[in-house]
Formats: sequence, C-alpha cells, structure tokens
Amino acid sequence: MSFVRTVLGDIPPDQLGACYAHEHVIIDQSFTTHIAPDFLLAEVAVGAVELRQFHADGGRAMIDSMPCDSGRNVLKLAELSRASGVHLVCPTGLHLAKYYDGGHWSHRYTEDELAALFVADITDGVDANDYGGPLVRRTGHRAGVIKVASERTFAAREERIFAAAAAAHRRTGCPILTHTEQGELALEQIALLQRLGVDLRHVCLSHTDRKPDAGYHREVLASGVRVEYDSAFRWRAGEGNPTFDLLLTLLPEFPDQIMLGMDAARRGYWRCYGGAPGLSFLLTEFSSRLRAAGVSAKMLQRVFVTTPAATFSFSSRSTWLSFP
Ligand SMILES: [Zn+2]
Repeated sequence: MSFVRTVLGDIPPDQLGACYAHEHVIIDQSFTTHIAPDFLLAEVAVGAVELRQFHADGGRAMIDSMPCDSGRNVLKLAELSRASGVHLVCPTGLHLAKYYDGGHWSHRYTEDELAALFVADITDGVDANDYGGPLVRRTGHRAGVIKVASERTFAAREERIFAAAAAAHRRTGCPILTHTEQGELALEQIALLQRLGVDLRHVCLSHTDRKPDAGYHREVLASGVRVEYDSAFRWRAGEGNPTFDLLLTLLPEFPDQIMLGMDAARRGYWRCYGGAPGLSFLLTEFSSRLRAAGVSAKMLQRVFVTTPAATFSFSSRSTWLSFP
C-alpha cells in the first residue's frame, strides 16, 4: 500500500488533496539567508497566516523544497503544518553549491555517505540540527522527498548528489524533486536518473516552464517523468505568459504529468509579509484564468490533486527492483 510521507506522518495518497509541488514555507537562518536576506521565512506564526488562507482557498498540501543544511527546519515545518492544517512534505537531499559555504561537507562526502544521510532522514527522522553538525538529533518527523539540483552543466558534486539520491530512492522508494536551472538539462537529468534505476513516475523536474519550448517539453514528458511549473506569476510585462500557454498546449497531451507550484522562496511573494501575489494565486486567480480559457475543472483536479498524489507517493518498485 503506497503512501505520502508528510512531516506529521504517512497518509494514503488520496488524502493529500490540492497540492503545490514546489514550495518554500520555512527557510531558517542559514548560509542561504546570509547571501539572500529576502529568503528568510523563519516565523511559523506569520507563515501560518498565509497557509491558513491557502487552506481556506482549497489548498491542502505543499512539497517543501529546502533540503539539508540550507535553511531547513523540520520542527518548524511540523509546527506550521499543525497550525495551518496543511500537509507539508519535508525534503532531504542537497541544493546547488551556491547555497552553501565553499567548505561545506556536501563538497567532500562520498556518494555512499550522502546516501546514508538521506536514507536516515527518510527512515529514522530528520535531524533537528539539519545536519549542521556535529551533533545529530533525530526527530519523529521523517523526510518524504529527495531534493537535488543541477546548474546549466553537471559538476562532479551534482553528479555525486544525484547518484546518492538515486541510491536512497532505490532503498526507500522515496520520490525525487529536482531543480533545473531555467529548465536546462532536463533530458540529461532524466537520462542520469534512469541509468541509476530510478522509477521516473516518482520524479518531478522543477522550473521547466522557464524554457517554454513545447517540443522540448514533449521530449521531456515522453520519458514518463513529471514536471512542475512555477513561473505563472513571474513573467514580466511584454513577455506574455508562456507558462499559461504551455499548460493549454500540453495538458491535453500529458494530462497526468504536469503540476504547479509557486516556488515562493522570497518574502516579497507572500501576502503576510506585505508582498504579492500571495500563495493562493494558483488556486484562485490563475485557476480562474485557466478555466476561462477552457481548461476543465476535471483537468485542474489532475494538476493539483491526482498527479501530485501519484508522484509524491513512495514507489513500490524499489522492493523488487534489483540494481547492480
Ligand atoms: Zn525552489
């Protein structure tokens, strides 16, 4: 029986509800917020106001995307989930090198060492100290997704992290969420994960709408992987809305592989911090626009509910997949 592993426990996939596939609801004091102060999302009480509004607008779940030692705080995620009634999935994994100090352990640890850290987050509980070291204190809150990232080319560090993520996936069935830089390297990420024995139905590539080329997207989606678009509110005046256009073009062809998110890592995007458009944007204004353009309510149900449930449930293939 498959399940989604939320920060407050495992739930049946059909209990997940309307889900944003790539969010940042807690970013604690870290090297990340040192280099980008606008990324600081550390106050549970403030975040809960925004997430309660999201819940009031029909939202039920979010996949958080801040992995190990980049500002993740599993205890705050758990508190925020309790305070808002929104299911939150806590990630393990590692982000781009730029979110860490140059001497960070992610540059040095071997593939096996990284995989062991990821697996422990998934099976034993996420470290309350976020692998900031030297002490590790496992909490009762387990990770439910492995976040990995690549720049425009694969560096040795990223290849090692992808390999470790794939190993953790094979051992646990935990889904994988990737960052693509402006949509680049999607096909290379897919090829690498496939070669590493990953069940592509449980892989979501993020930000691919930054490269709004329908032909490219067809090639990506033909692999069976899922994608997440989060630029619906980011395009500037004069650019149109390529995210909107991609959805109209591709949803009829790939109705079970496309999800949406805000990737609202900056305070400036949150209403509770005085920003815009606020986290409810996709459920309210953007969904209304899609409906007006002919996207059915049933199709939106797939985008927000059934595709996230299928993607972020644990793969059962890991139990029978033998990998050298
Ligand atoms: Zn993100």
